[in-house]
Amino acid sequence: MQREQHLDGIVPCDALLRLVSSTEAVVGDVAVTLSFARDLQRNQVATGHVELQVELTCQRCLQPVREQIEADIAWGFVWSEEQGKNLPRSLDPVIQEGDELDLYQALEDEILLNLPMVAYHDEECVPRDGFHSGGKAPEAVGQQENPFKVLEQLKGSSNKS
Ligand SMILES: [Zn+2]
Repeated sequence: MQREQHLDGIVPCDALLRLVSSTEAVVGDVAVTLSFARDLQRNQVATGHVELQVELTCQRCLQPVREQIEADIAWGFVWSEEQGKNLPRSLDPVIQEGDELDLYQALEDEILLNLPMVAYHDEECVPRDGFHSGGKAPEAVGQQENPFKVLEQLKGSSNKS
């Protein structure tokens, strides 16, 4: 029997660059607990919990909104996708490339999966009558000046004289 290993710690957010770039900010550090073991099928598994706070952009007022992210971890380490398919369904396959387990990478994937797609302030940060839900007109694209149009205008004005 292999003994169980336990890890209880803090991951500095500068180790998780993809997370940093997909949020406004990571508030403080990332708290992680992980227990490593082999299950009955001799899979190398890790179970635990991750917890952190991030700032995301509120889709109503476009100001930062703080979100608490918490996720339970149940990883099964495998070295190919094929191997991953044989894992029990209760485990998320974490595909490894080398001999060493890349925990930061797996942790970051887990957190990214648990980020909300859109964030809003709990309170009404924009007055209700100023916010028309549903009718989101895609204005931004048409607003840009077309350089050819400007050229045409110039040509047009020189023809006139
Ligand atoms: Zn807001």
